Amino acid sequence: MRQLADYHMHTPLCRHATGEPVDYAAQAVALGLEEIGISDHSPMREDGFDSWRMNLDDLDNYVAAVEQARVAHPGLTIRLALEVDYLPGQEDWIRDLAARHPWDYFIGSVHYLGGWDIDNPQKLAEWKHRDVTEVWVAYVERLTEAARSGLFDILGHIDLPKKFGHYPDVSVLPRYERFLETARAAGVAIELNTAGLRKDCREIYPSRAILAAAYRCGVPITFGSDAHAPDEVGSAWAEAMALARSVGYRTCCRFAARRRSEVPLDLA
Ligand code: ZN
Ligand code: FE
Ligand code: FE
Repeated sequence: MRQLADYHMHTPLCRHATGEPVDYAAQAVALGLEEIGISDHSPMREDGFDSWRMNLDDLDNYVAAVEQARVAHPGLTIRLALEVDYLPGQEDWIRDLAARHPWDYFIGSVHYLGGWDIDNPQKLAEWKHRDVTEVWVAYVERLTEAARSGLFDILGHIDLPKKFGHYPDVSVLPRYERFLETARAAGVAIELNTAGLRKDCREIYPSRAILAAAYRCGVPITFGSDAHAPDEVGSAWAEAMALARSVGYRTCCRFAARRRSEVPLDLA
């Protein structure tokens, strides 16, 4: 379990995380992890899109900081990745980004619906003006487009609308099943993201019901703490492992140079 790779962590370049990649790596080594991936919020083509991602000028610095962590911790495998917002119309930009550096994987995340970043605590009031079920429906639809786009290796925190405790009136599971079928067909993994345990929803992303559907559908998984500080690396790893196993998973996947491999959960 200690060897489960933590594939989701941030850096100060996104302006809301602390600790350099070398600090995250040191924490991973202290925990006995053998592999991590740094996956900070990707830049947009134009800076100023919002206040919580790296500027484009910092992209090379980001890659250099990950390289420094590799040099400082040669016994730890450190993957170079990004958490990339999926926004319709940005596909060319995402392909441009993909060509700029030797990435190991891209996590595709839906944070935005229209101009609203639904998980932004500063935009929490917006939920009062919305039909919660409609938000969920739009979210799953956008996720499905992200899976179909072929731009991503992993899809991040796939039931993010629950973050602040907003749940739909009707089951959205059939919609998730259609999304998961698309992900499986497209060869995209989903992540178990333990950051949900630190939010109002107090639950790993995704829920047990969605994860069980993912297992039945044959969608592979990765694990991520979504750490925004080094002491969050590997957080709730035992719980994440137990959840994955309880719905049937016996393998998880890893990425190198955007190619997927499967490893047994026991050894993972
Ligand atoms: Zn973040
Ligand atoms: Fe995210
Ligand atoms: Fe993240």
